[in-house]
Amino acid sequence: MNEILIISGKGGTGKTSLAAAFAHLAENHVICDLDVDAPDMHLILKPENTKSVDFISGHEAKIMEDQCESCGTCLEMCKYGAVKNEDDRYFIDPLKCEGCKVCVEFCPARAIDFPDRHCGRWFSSDTRFGPMIHAQLFPGEENSGLLVSLLRKKAKEMAREKRLDMILSDGTPGIGCPVIASLSGISLAVIVTEPTPSGRHDLERVAELCGHFKVPAGIIINKCDLNEKEAATIEAFASEKGFALFGKLPHDPAITRAMINAQAITEYADNAFTKQLTEIWERILQSLKPDNKPNKQSGFFNTPFIKTKIS
Ligand code: SF4
Ligand code: SF4
Repeated sequence: MNEILIISGKGGTGKTSLAAAFAHLAENHVICDLDVDAPDMHLILKPENTKSVDFISGHEAKIMEDQCESCGTCLEMCKYGAVKNEDDRYFIDPLKCEGCKVCVEFCPARAIDFPDRHCGRWFSSDTRFGPMIHAQLFPGEENSGLLVSLLRKKAKEMAREKRLDMILSDGTPGIGCPVIASLSGISLAVIVTEPTPSGRHDLERVAELCGHFKVPAGIIINKCDLNEKEAATIEAFASEKGFALFGKLPHDPAITRAMINAQAITEYADNAFTKQLTEIWERILQSLKPDNKPNKQSGFFNTPFIKTKIS
C-alpha cells in the first residue's frame, strides 16, 4: 500500500488545493486530512460522516470547589501557571493545564479531579472522491501528533477493509510534531513550495526533515511565475540534494474560484494548468514504481528522471 503525504514548509503555498486535486485524480484510495490543527479539505470535499468518535488524550486537572480548603499548594506547585486564584477561589485554566498531575498528588484535601481530556473528534466519511478519514481538534488543544498517528492508523484500517491500495494525505504545514508523526514510514512526501525567500527557507527545513527520516521526497514549485529567479534557485536545490522535481505550476486565479465553488481545480477547470497538474500526478505515480524507488540510505531519488520531462 502506498502512502503519499502532501506537505509544505509553510502555510499559503496552495498545498491543500493541490491535495484536493490529487484526491480527485487518484483512484482506489483513502483520503486523509492530517492537518488536524486547521483542517480544510472538508471544505472542498464536503464529506458525509459515517462515523464520529471522541478523541481522548491525556488528562486535565479540575478543582472541586466544594472540597477545596484554599491552601494555595496547587498554585505554588503548578509550573505551567494553570492554577488561578481570584477572590480566594482556586480554579484551573484548561488551556494552560498540561495534565502533569502534580497538583493532584500534592493537594492535601484531595480536592482535584483528574478526568480524561476530550480534545476533539475524528471522523470516517464518504466523499465524491472516495472514503476519507479526518478530524477536528478543539480550540487550544494540543496532542496533534497523537491524533495524526491515530488518523493514519484508521486510514490504513479503512484501506485494508475496502481493499484500496493508496492513502493520500494532506499534511500539516511546518516541521512540528504533527509533521513528524505524518512522515514515518510513508512511501513518498510531496513538498509544495512557492518561489519566495521564506518559501525556499521553509522548503529547505522540511526537506531536511524528510532526509533525516529517510523519506523519499519530491518537490512541486507552485506559483512559479511569481519569482522566476527564486524558482530557479529551488530547482538547483532539488538537483543538488537529489530530490525529484515533480513540476512547476504557474499562478492561476481559477484555483481561488474553484475553492469558492467548493471544487478541486481539476473538477472546476479544464485548462493548461490542470493539464500540467495531471502530468505532475502521473509523475508522482511513476515515482512510486519499483524501478524509480529512491536510495534506501539517503531517502533521495537516485535519478533525476523527472526533471528531464519538465518543460
Ligand atoms: S491544593 Fe487543593 S485544597 Fe489547596 S487550594 Fe489547591 S485545590 Fe484547594
Ligand atoms: S495537572 Fe499539572 S499543569 Fe495541570 S494544573 Fe495541575 S500542576 Fe498545573
